[in-house]
Amino acid sequence: MPEITMAPPHIRSIVIAGGGTAGWMVAAALSRTIAPHRCRITLVESETIGTIGVGEATIPPIQTFNQVIGLDEAAFLQATKGTFKLGIEFAGWRCKGHRYFHPFGRQGNDFGGTQFHQHWLRAQALGDDTPFGEFSLNEKAAYAGRMRRPDADPRSVYATFAYAYHFDAALYAQHLRALSEARGVERREGVIDEVVLDGETGRIASLRLDDGGMLDGDLFIDCTGLRSLLLGEALGVPFEDWTRYLPCNRALAVPTDCIDLDRPYTRSTAHKAGWQWRIPLQHRMGNGMVYSAEHWSDEEAHDALMANLDGRPLADPRPIRFTTGRRAQSWVKNCVAIGLSAGFLEPLESTSIHLIQIAVAKLLNWFPDMGFDAMTMAEYNRQIANEYDRIRDFLVLHYHANERSDEPFWHQCRTAAMPESLAEKMALFRRTGRLLARDSDLFQDASWLAVLLGQGIMPQAYDPLTESLRPLELDQMLCGMRQLIERASAAMPTQQAHLAGIGGVM
Ligand code: FAD
Repeated sequence: MPEITMAPPHIRSIVIAGGGTAGWMVAAALSRTIAPHRCRITLVESETIGTIGVGEATIPPIQTFNQVIGLDEAAFLQATKGTFKLGIEFAGWRCKGHRYFHPFGRQGNDFGGTQFHQHWLRAQALGDDTPFGEFSLNEKAAYAGRMRRPDADPRSVYATFAYAYHFDAALYAQHLRALSEARGVERREGVIDEVVLDGETGRIASLRLDDGGMLDGDLFIDCTGLRSLLLGEALGVPFEDWTRYLPCNRALAVPTDCIDLDRPYTRSTAHKAGWQWRIPLQHRMGNGMVYSAEHWSDEEAHDALMANLDGRPLADPRPIRFTTGRRAQSWVKNCVAIGLSAGFLEPLESTSIHLIQIAVAKLLNWFPDMGFDAMTMAEYNRQIANEYDRIRDFLVLHYHANERSDEPFWHQCRTAAMPESLAEKMALFRRTGRLLARDSDLFQDASWLAVLLGQGIMPQAYDPLTESLRPLELDQMLCGMRQLIERASAAMPTQQAHLAGIGGVM
């Protein structure tokens, strides 16, 4: 028998460039999973440059990330002034005066081997007009200001429930910094003046800092934000611009002094040439406007934002410019870009922090401890590109399927070209009520259903298998489900009581 020997580790030093949410999430995850004696981890960031300073709403998988890096939920909520998020309300997106809710969790229960929404579609065809949202415990609880933990037992109605968080992104980064430094991550303050490439391999050899210091490493993680200093600028990886699908390219962010624990959800309100976010935290409200500079001047966007705030502004609105899209590859040579340096999708479904989480998880799966292997890197890049592309399709759906008339921005969104993958999905749903699901999709059927139906896309047919139930049985089944959800929501504590009960507030 040949002797099996461990290959020597190729990665003895990791340099993380940038200390925003991405940099510190990467540092926290790597310091938890890679033993410090095996590998030195250094993070360099510049207080002079600062961070983008927004990013307050998340989606449920963040809970897994926090668990993996060893965060206690109550301590995390206290430290980040966090609140619970049960979904997103979309106001005015389909048309003015209309609203719908994208809940986490799922609507109803599948029955007789057929998806729940097919039974609902049949009931609608028979004349029932109960909105689909009536079958979502998350939606009921959100509008009643209630919260509790989901149940693991699949027979419980609370197993259909799910939640994420709103939090102060700067406080989250601080919290992760303390955790990472305690686990041996070394932080360097300084501006990266130059990315030095190895003349032979073209890999990154080191980073030259403004104090003359050099940071050498085997693996470099580019978390430098929209500038993409390592992957974009130094290695020249091109950026794929998606403005033709998602035309917004500016944002204004402003906190207000409003405190609202009765609404455990994000609100997104459509305006003439963009949309406004409202994110309730324990100590303030996060607000902002995302808009298209081609359709709205900065003054118009500013005035619309300031006229629609809850509470008094705590600062002047901060302008942010961006281009939607992603880098053609996010791992090239010995550099992996994570966070805004890899790509940007507007925060309509709160997916950026999730994309950081996914990138870290995949990097750990495909960690180059045996060297930089072309197949591994290609697979990583394929999977990351797929994550961005699927989320892009979901975002485009919100814009495309609108009925807002007389507004050039919304007219353009309605008539612009769509990604083919989205066009196929919408066409199939319209025709059959069926959803083209891909295993790796972040947003599963429940999310697509909420937005497709919310935006007014009603299928022309339902699954004929639902006809195994007689109309009276169908009616009784739906009625029983609605009552159960109503009772389950009413029995939940308020968000405030739940936060206090688990020790999530000081
Ligand atoms: P940054 O925060 O920009 O950090 C970059 C880091 O690199 C900083 O530490 C900086 O100092 C450092 N750096 C840069 N250049 C140098 C240099 N030369 N030398 C040394 N250091 C350098 N995401 C969500 O999930 N939910 C949301 O609700 C949400 N809302 C958003 C709203 C808006 C308007 C925008 C624009 C984004 C939003 N995002 C949201 C995205 C979210 O803000 C980012 O994904 C997240 O903050 C990660 O940013 P980052 O760490 O990649 O970049």
